[in-house]
Amino acid sequence: MIYIHVPFCRSFCTYCGFYSERLCSESGHLPIDSYISSLCAEILRRREEILAAAACNTLYIGGGTPSLLPLAALEQILKALPLSGFDEFTIEVNPDDILKGGLSYSLGLKALGVNRVSMGVQSFSDSELHWMGRRHNASQAVQAFRLLRDAGFENISLDLIFGQGSTENLSSGIDSLLALSPEHVSAYQLSVESGSALESMLEKGLVHLPDDSVCAAQYALLCERLSAAGYEHYEISNWAKPGFRARHNSAYWTRCSYVGLGPGAHSFSREREYRSWNSETLPSWQSEGEQLSAREVREERTMLGLRCCEGIDAAALPQDRLAAELASGRLCSCSSHRVRIPETHWFVSDDIISNLL
Ligand code: SF4
Repeated sequence: MIYIHVPFCRSFCTYCGFYSERLCSESGHLPIDSYISSLCAEILRRREEILAAAACNTLYIGGGTPSLLPLAALEQILKALPLSGFDEFTIEVNPDDILKGGLSYSLGLKALGVNRVSMGVQSFSDSELHWMGRRHNASQAVQAFRLLRDAGFENISLDLIFGQGSTENLSSGIDSLLALSPEHVSAYQLSVESGSALESMLEKGLVHLPDDSVCAAQYALLCERLSAAGYEHYEISNWAKPGFRARHNSAYWTRCSYVGLGPGAHSFSREREYRSWNSETLPSWQSEGEQLSAREVREERTMLGLRCCEGIDAAALPQDRLAAELASGRLCSCSSHRVRIPETHWFVSDDIISNLL
């Protein structure tokens, strides 16, 4: 299970808290070459670790904006990896890059072995996309989706952000999304990152966000509409048509070992219960890590397990609090020995999980 972080964006979205550098093509200075050389050196250095994490044979190229990378750069990365023929190979893309690259770029991704595309649409309202600083409008997102289909992609995931606009806009956005019939949907509540452009826009009154009760109603609307359309709500923020759960992300939630490559990427060894992370620096980056304590392992299992519809083993929870949460309906049994947070309470999962740690 390999994750590669591509730390470039053409411009920054107002809400973004991910590590990324602005790729300034106007200046003629493209740091892609030095990034690729450092990445290939890291792949070589961590070859054994990469091979050891192949039990879950997935590759995920995320960012940032991986679709900013030319096909030749992606090919160079793939050639450096000691593994190929991934069961699931996902790349995150932005609609504007897909349109700019035309059919040849999407066909090129397919030829490189990408078999799942995750596209950040975020909203189908042009005014919302505008203040969020997205580089595309709703109709371009639809065109990009169709282009990916024309290129033969049969497993496409679309990202939406709720809690950032009116429920009416979200509802018509869900209509637009369902009309495209993607295999997978991820929906995240907008969060205001400290130091983000959004934070200062809010302070200046340039943007108004819905309050928590509206956000809860929007989450409930997503749950209801996606379920009615045949999507399985298998994790707090993720829905899939039958057979299309994200294998890579599911492996994170079940605590499989993974190797994260590139600046800002995280890695985890299940065998050693060891977590490490790369510094958010270019053109090269360093790694540091920590041994997880038994308590941290237990808490992480609880936090990740309760995000998923399969829940966790009831025996792993403090029995007095388990009984109280079951009695209050904030937990329910999902098999003879497993418990989960019911979908109706997933919106307040943080509170429930912290009570069980
Ligand atoms: S494209 Fe993604 S990573 Fe880049 S600024 Fe926007 S949200 Fe952040």
